[in-house]
Amino acid sequence: MNKNLIEKIRSVLKSLKFRVFVIVALAIILPTLISSIFIYNVAVKNYTEKKIDSFSGANTVIRNTVENGHFFDEVVEDAETTNNSVLQNNAQVEHLAKAHQCRIQVINSKRVILYDSGSDAGKNSVARAVQKGMAGEKQFVQKEDAVEYVIPVVISSGGSETESQIVLGVIYTRYSLKDVENYSLNMRRYVNMASSLLVIFGLILAWVLSVVFTNPIQRIEKSITEISQAKNIDKEPVEEENDYSEVMEISRDFRALVSRLTTQVRSQQEFVSNVSHELKTPITSMKILADSLLGQQGLPEELYQEFLQDISKEIDRENNIITDLLELVRMEKSSAEINISSVNINEIVETILRRLKPIAESKNIEVIFESFRPVIADVDEIKFASVVNNLVENAIKYNNTDGTVTTSLNSDHQYFYLKVTDTGIGISEEAQERVFERFFRVDKARTRETGGSGLGLAITKEIVDKHHGSIKVHSKEGEGTTFTVRIPLKYIR
Ligand code: ADP
Repeated sequence: MNKNLIEKIRSVLKSLKFRVFVIVALAIILPTLISSIFIYNVAVKNYTEKKIDSFSGANTVIRNTVENGHFFDEVVEDAETTNNSVLQNNAQVEHLAKAHQCRIQVINSKRVILYDSGSDAGKNSVARAVQKGMAGEKQFVQKEDAVEYVIPVVISSGGSETESQIVLGVIYTRYSLKDVENYSLNMRRYVNMASSLLVIFGLILAWVLSVVFTNPIQRIEKSITEISQAKNIDKEPVEEENDYSEVMEISRDFRALVSRLTTQVRSQQEFVSNVSHELKTPITSMKILADSLLGQQGLPEELYQEFLQDISKEIDRENNIITDLLELVRMEKSSAEINISSVNINEIVETILRRLKPIAESKNIEVIFESFRPVIADVDEIKFASVVNNLVENAIKYNNTDGTVTTSLNSDHQYFYLKVTDTGIGISEEAQERVFERFFRVDKARTRETGGSGLGLAITKEIVDKHHGSIKVHSKEGEGTTFTVRIPLKYIR
């Protein structure tokens, strides 16, 4: 047999369909066979018992007839009387033998067969049961095709005190069990027929059930295969109306899982390509600047200075991007890295505003802090400081000269709220939906000037999420932007 065939057979034997088939088939066939054997045995046994009961009744009649006859009389007056009475006795017993369809022998104590409804009259009986019956005990022998009885015929002798029994002879009866045999043959035929039908029915039912039970699993398997071969990821799942709800749920959950993983993989790929692009841009600029310096000789000192300053800026930009990337990757690693403690939020905000004020002043931007109440909350101090820093820095960066940046801090019994509002360039509605994406910049050229990495808000959102908080943006182009952060006062892991 070739290897493939063996593999195929093994896989069929291991399949759920085959196992369901075998289990259901056995569950139907085994009880059917056991109960048909039981029914057959009980029916044959009952029939035999009934027959034997009827033999006992016949035996009583035969015994009475023989005892009332004169089979064992030895003293006779004359031959004619003897002959008459023998003939009369024989006729009666013969009638009974015919009526009960049995063989009757009347045997005297010397085991001479006095009468036989068969043809052994006058011979000696050698049957063991007859020999035993002569001792006065009734004998019953069941053979395969017949039952035999030996009934002793006894008379009592002596007085009431010294009473003893004398065995005159025995009556031997033999009833054929041919009838029982016929009955059991018929019965076997019926039972065999019925159980064959049930076995066929069982096999069909087992097959149908194995198909019905395993079909949904095959559908799931097919759908998984389709997904794994990336044929069908975005296609709506093929759900059968009458599928089991569990199967539909598995299908749906699986698709949701795959779709989530696919989105993750796509965004990961996008991220890698963005990172490469972002890291390449400053290097390309530096290469152009350096090449143009190298390509020309005897350039004035100021030009060298200017070009080198540009190269230095690009290096700073590259450095910013790498620092932010490392921060973002670190943040995404695990929640164990968050270092929560009870922190005075007002103090953090004030410190950062103080630090950023000089930058704001260079653009004549007013920095205002509105603190509605002192706020103490469970946060990671360093990470939360970087949230405030990013938002205020952006509010200054994307503001107009002579603008304002207002930072407000408030709380209720559950959360604290940090609001950073500027009077800057604003963000269009479509862009508002994307500002938290990595490397997203509304105006690439402007960002180039400011040296932003495009990762600041992505990091900010990541930190706020880690604190189980939320961040929202409200903006109108040309009027200004407000970022609102809401963080729970108590950190629950
Ligand atoms: P970047 O380093 O470029 O500032 P961010 O992730 O901090 O990166 O911001 C993403 C983009 O969102 C910015 O490039 C800018 O276009 C826009 N943006 C962020 N804050 C503001 C703001 N206060 N006003 C206007 N635009 C903003």
